[in-house]
Amino acid sequence: MSSTLVEYKIDIQKIREEFPILDQQVNGKQLVYLDNAATNQKPQRVVDALVYHYQNDNANIHRGIHTLAERSTTAFEETRKAIQGFINSNEAEEIIFTKGTSESINLVASSWGRKFLNAGDEVLISTMEHHSNIVPWQMICEEKGAILKIMPINEAGEIVIEEVKKLLSEKTKMVAFNHASNTLGTVNPVKQITKMAHAVGAKVLVDGAQSTSHLEVDVKDLNVDFFAFSAHKMYGPTGLGVLYGKRDILEKMPPYQGGGEMIKDVSFEGTTYNDIPYKFEAGTPDIANVIAFKKAIEFIEELGKDNIAAYEHELLIYATEKLAAIEEVKIVGTAKDKVSVISFTVEGVHHFDLGMWLDAKGIAVRTGHHCTQPLMEHFCIEGTARASFSVYNTHEEIDAFVKALKDIISKFK
Ligand code: PMP
Repeated sequence: MSSTLVEYKIDIQKIREEFPILDQQVNGKQLVYLDNAATNQKPQRVVDALVYHYQNDNANIHRGIHTLAERSTTAFEETRKAIQGFINSNEAEEIIFTKGTSESINLVASSWGRKFLNAGDEVLISTMEHHSNIVPWQMICEEKGAILKIMPINEAGEIVIEEVKKLLSEKTKMVAFNHASNTLGTVNPVKQITKMAHAVGAKVLVDGAQSTSHLEVDVKDLNVDFFAFSAHKMYGPTGLGVLYGKRDILEKMPPYQGGGEMIKDVSFEGTTYNDIPYKFEAGTPDIANVIAFKKAIEFIEELGKDNIAAYEHELLIYATEKLAAIEEVKIVGTAKDKVSVISFTVEGVHHFDLGMWLDAKGIAVRTGHHCTQPLMEHFCIEGTARASFSVYNTHEEIDAFVKALKDIISKFK
């Protein structure tokens, strides 16, 4: 892991004031929220935007001509434009709203996969994928007689590029992998793998669930064909996600679901479909959450990705050094390039017990397989405890976490 520290400009107390949820006692102790890879907290401006929308503007969007419908439609489409800027896509029409990363990947596997995969074709994913980027591909491969292949990883938890080279061939039609691993924290070399995949004519889908709130994401520069992410992991509302896709590919894909909004004309003889992105947005979307999501993007942009990344990297190094110094602790995932996620096991203490005891001390971490069971199998473990940091976490919180962990370990000795 790179230990180079970069200067950042962040007023941590000011940031924390935007997150009143952090200022509470849990089990009689000050809450230390270190479960940010599962979902991070929402700044007050996001909560306020939700309330404001329901109190002032609520109406269904797009087809209404009355004032509230126009206000809601404008605000909804402004978020789409904000996301376009945030990930630097060519056009707002390449941004599709979904329920989350899982639905975004399911959309591509179902729609693109059903049309473009044939028997004997290959889909390449990595050992460290979240179940959301495994199961949809298994399902479509089974349906189409395609073959799922796996990019191996090394002991540090990095994709072995030499092996990827051997796995890629003209049979490979899709390469799908995460930008950053939710379990290991590994940041994958998206540009490099994308270039290799394109060289054999494959498409590339990147699961960005764990990268969008930590790393700069420029889909044009990365040159990926699809990029999926969830609002709730980037200070935004739950149950909302995004699929970015290149226009020419999206236009060739059939709709994912049928219903209102995704059509131009319907008759019993046949239906013509709407243009992108609406072709993929059947039914009434999560209007209020989409509108509030813009505030989360503004929060990230105000702080600046460089600042966030530098500060979180400092927290990562600080916590890693403290944990590595505890004899009973083994860190799982030691890649050179990591986001602020630390998975670990503790000799003699089951991860579920650890999670429970930490919670008793006010500290929220995640325990289990983190929806990456094949990865757990690779490391021959059942699960880990995972601490993950967002921009509002502090060095003092890491101290409290490490102290609590040491207390628990000493009780189990
Ligand atoms: N991929 C990764 C890497 C994730 O961390 C997650 C969420 N844990 C998902 C996909 C699924 O995201 P969602 O549940 O928001 O669909």
